[in-house]
Parts: sequence; C-alpha cells; structure tokens
Amino acid sequence: MKHISILGSTGSIGTQTLEVIEANPGLYRVSALTAHANAPLLIAQALKFKPDMVVIGDAEKYAEVKAALSGLAIQVMAGEDALSEAAVVPQADVVLTALVGAVGLKPTIAAITAGKDIALANKETLVVAGDLITSLAGQYGVRIIPVDSEHSAIFQCLVGETENSIEKIYLTASGGPFRGKDSNFLAQIGRAEALKHPNWVMGAKITIDSASLMNKGLEVIEAKWLFDLQADQIDVIVHPQSIVHSLVQFNDGSIKAQMGLPDMKLPIHYALAYPNRISTSFKRFSFMDYPELTFAQADRKTFRNLDLAFRALQMGGNMPCIINAANEVVVNAFLSDKIGFLQMSDVIEQCMEDLEFIQDASLNNYLETDRYTRIFAGELVTKQVYQHQNIKY
Ligand code: MG
Repeated sequence: MKHISILGSTGSIGTQTLEVIEANPGLYRVSALTAHANAPLLIAQALKFKPDMVVIGDAEKYAEVKAALSGLAIQVMAGEDALSEAAVVPQADVVLTALVGAVGLKPTIAAITAGKDIALANKETLVVAGDLITSLAGQYGVRIIPVDSEHSAIFQCLVGETENSIEKIYLTASGGPFRGKDSNFLAQIGRAEALKHPNWVMGAKITIDSASLMNKGLEVIEAKWLFDLQADQIDVIVHPQSIVHSLVQFNDGSIKAQMGLPDMKLPIHYALAYPNRISTSFKRFSFMDYPELTFAQADRKTFRNLDLAFRALQMGGNMPCIINAANEVVVNAFLSDKIGFLQMSDVIEQCMEDLEFIQDASLNNYLETDRYTRIFAGELVTKQVYQHQNIKY
C-alpha cells in the first residue's frame, strides 16, 4: 500500500490521479489533498477518500471546508503556507505535485526535505529552481518521478540504461491548435480558440502554454534538470498525433521511444506504481486508427516562446525563473482578454532583457526574482491595456 498526498487535487491532473487511486483501492491510500479555491470539489474528494489532512489555498473558504468535514478525523488548514504542511504529512510516501505555477516550489522543497518521493506534475518548480530541487533530491535520497507525459516517456526509455550515456533526447510536441499558422493569424485569436487543444484535455494555463509552445519551452528546461542534460542535447519535434510521447537517442545511435494513446492517466499510473506496471483497462492503441505518424520541425520563428525558453536555458541562473513568472502573468492577462496572443512573447522577452540576471542564484534569489518579475510583467501588461484604450477612445 502506497500513501499519496496530492497537491492540487481539484485540477485536471489531481482529479485524474484520484480516478487512478479509486480504481486501485488495494494499492493506494490518500494522505492529503489540497485545492486552490474549489472548496465544493475538495470537500467531495475529502468525504470520499478520507485523507488525514486537507488544505484550501483560499483562506476565505476555510470555514466552509471546516464545517463540511467536522466530526471527521481530517485536519483542515488554509492558506498558501499550509501547502507545505500537506507536503509533509507523516503517513505519505509519495507527494504528487499538481499545483499550477511557481507556487509549487516551497511545498516541493518541504516534501523532499521530509524524505518523500515526488511525482512531479508541477513542471514550473523545476523550471524556476531546477538546480536546487535536483541537488536537494540527491541529498535526501528521494526520487523525482515525472508525470509530464514527455518526461515520463524519457524516464521509461531510460529504465535499465543507467550505465549508458544519452546522446540527445527528442521531446515531441503536438503543435497545439495553431500548428502551421502564421503571425498574422495568431495576432487575431482570442482565449476561446486558444483553449481548444486538439489531443489533450488539460487545465487552462497549460492549454494556453501548449498553444503558444511555452509548454514545450518549459518542458525543455524541465528535461534538462530531470535527466541532467545540456541545452544542445534537447530537441523538440512536432508530432501532431501525440502517440510517440518522446524519444531518447543513445551514444550508439540507437533510439528508444515510448508510445501510447494520449491519456494523462498512463503517466500518472506509471509514476504512482513505479517501478512496477499495473494492469489497466484503458483503451489500447491500434495501428489501424493511426496509419500515419508524422514528424516536423518546430516553427520557432512564429512561436517565439520556444526560442525564448531555449535562450533562458542556455543562460541559466535566474533566467528560467524570469520567463516562468512572466509567462504566468501574461497567460492570466491573455485569459482575461487584457493582451493579445503575440503580446505574451513581447512581455516575456522584455522581462528577460530588462530584469537583473543572476548567474549563481540562491533560493532567496529565485523567490525574489519570481516576485519582482510578476510586478514588472504586470506593469507591462497594464501599459499595453492603457495604450490600447487610448487608441480605442
Ligand atoms: Mg507535457
């Protein structure tokens, strides 16, 4: 029996993780659940799975959650700091981090220093502070098992290859809903079009990141830290069918790929059960449904975010932290119709150029970088709205 804490249990990955756990009651038990603001769903999950602790991020909803769970042996806490409490609940063996954004950093550090293995779905944590997280994991002897489908694919390809060196990896990208489109087209699109992903059903932030290719950019940085690679060992290849989830090329030229239908429950299942594989009744891949699997170069000129992410990876230091924070701000701004699709890259690039670059960054540097990048990016967004309104009126 594995005991699992889920940080971010009401999001897309969180709910799918609970479906996996529910389908395997003899294998897993839930230790802690946390939600940002969705109190009704958190309450329903807590009543069903009976964790030892629940945390609601939005402190105003504490009374609602507390009242609904009164009389049960479930500790209820609220606020962002309480996420770290959920990360260290003593009963848990594995902490699945499915928080969205850099808010996952502190609880992930707390979980690692408490000796918990990490099932990592919160890629932003590795983007922001990959050096700190991976060295802490080494120090405390905990495993970081990726839940991101591409990284799960690489991880699976590397089983049994510990003595062999990786020449390079290929991260596959579906290309999102705007694959093949040009800048003129992208300048016109709004949130509704960007939220329609062709292959994957995901949360709003990652869906926008997929449409802008920032998701792939963040994944490139995530891969660097998970697999100890240099920037020139990581390539991105567009594969619209999302069947080949990623590939590893070894030093003899041989390539291993991991394939399957696009269903996040597969990598979730693998991360929870690792090193075992558990039988599932998921729909099986059929070659007849996919007579053609195609591959193409990513368009880094139109989708500038991918280029910016590679640049940040090459520079290192706090630069990935800057692009991540700026990206969180612009995605929110785009989702609330404050800026256009292409302006997202403009704001990110300006943050990269104008904000202080720190090569050897400490945890405090990362936290500060995250804080002031959000302020600066927010100001850039506001200015654009202001200019836009000037033109309009
Ligand atoms: Mg992914």
